[in-house]
Amino acid sequence: MEIVTTLDETTAGLGGGCMGAARLRGWKFCLLGGDRRQDYLGCRLARSGAEVWIVRRRPPRFPGLRHSRAKEPALDGARVIVCPMAPFGPDGRVCSEDPEDLLALTESDLDLLARPSVLFAGSFPERLAAAAEKAGCRPVALNDMDEMAILNSVPTAEGALLMALERTTVTLHSSKALVLGYGRTGQTMARTLLALRARVTVIARRPAARARARADGCEALPLEELAGALTDARFVFNTIPALVLTADALERARPDVIIIDLASAPGGTDFEAARRLGLTAVLAPGLPGRVAPETAGGHLAEVVTRIALQSLAPVEVRPS
Ligand code: NAP
Repeated sequence: MEIVTTLDETTAGLGGGCMGAARLRGWKFCLLGGDRRQDYLGCRLARSGAEVWIVRRRPPRFPGLRHSRAKEPALDGARVIVCPMAPFGPDGRVCSEDPEDLLALTESDLDLLARPSVLFAGSFPERLAAAAEKAGCRPVALNDMDEMAILNSVPTAEGALLMALERTTVTLHSSKALVLGYGRTGQTMARTLLALRARVTVIARRPAARARARADGCEALPLEELAGALTDARFVFNTIPALVLTADALERARPDVIIIDLASAPGGTDFEAARRLGLTAVLAPGLPGRVAPETAGGHLAEVVTRIALQSLAPVEVRPS
């Protein structure tokens, strides 16, 4: 069943950063699954004149968007498809905040799209990316883009603070916080903690990354010194997507440490060892969508719109 509601100027989530009222007129977008970011992304695209379809069980949170539980009417003739930032599951399963959504994007679905078209996702299984190219559909892996990762690092760091503060009895101010990894997320995490006057130590494998951390006002240590640094850390924020918080390292941690693991699943923590040792350690995936879907959806809209306009020819819209 398809449901269409009208776009209401006063609708929540539509304010701010309007991207050009009609530049997507005549464009059909299909947003598959995902979290609350998709609603805000959809709003922003609709405000730019696009026809936006949201495919999932639950109706869109805002008016102005078309809704379908079945993917076919939404994919049919779509110029742009946006899948979630979270990885595809087996058989092209698309991640959704609603566990009852059983959506998948298969190779045969690509035949329904307009040619050429653009397919956005956080990342792609190799087979799907190859099939998309063959079908005249440009796959764009958003997680590979520095721009997207840096923009996402802000709601991620704020979400990590929220999760840490909910679980502790002390301030971050004056506390010792470890940040593991000094890439796009680690840098924003450390700078956010510094702004709160936490005592920040960065653990990174590359000397240049440690030099940058020191230049930014942190202490910096190589990975080999992680276990020692854990002995007096009250907070640990991990961004390294490899097992670094091993059982041996965790044995050196304070009993009241709070570990927020931001790395993609399965994270960088031996959670079983943490549980056995009675430590608080949580894996915190998808924070931008959970903590700041409006901001994160707005960032997505900017990036998706720019790449779509660069990749595809304008649509000729005849005056009615
Ligand atoms: P990034 O810029 O590539 O940074 C990764 C950091 O981890 C770098 O410092 C890198 O060191 C280090 N690293 C990678 N593999 C390592 C290993 N085997 N041993 C030691 N250090 C290693 O990545 P990012 O954008 O910051 O993202 C970091 C992680 O957070 C990813 O898993 C990403 O999916 C996840 N993430 C999660 C959320 C969330 O909501 N939880 C949001 C955004 C991102 P080098 O520089 O030496 O390679």
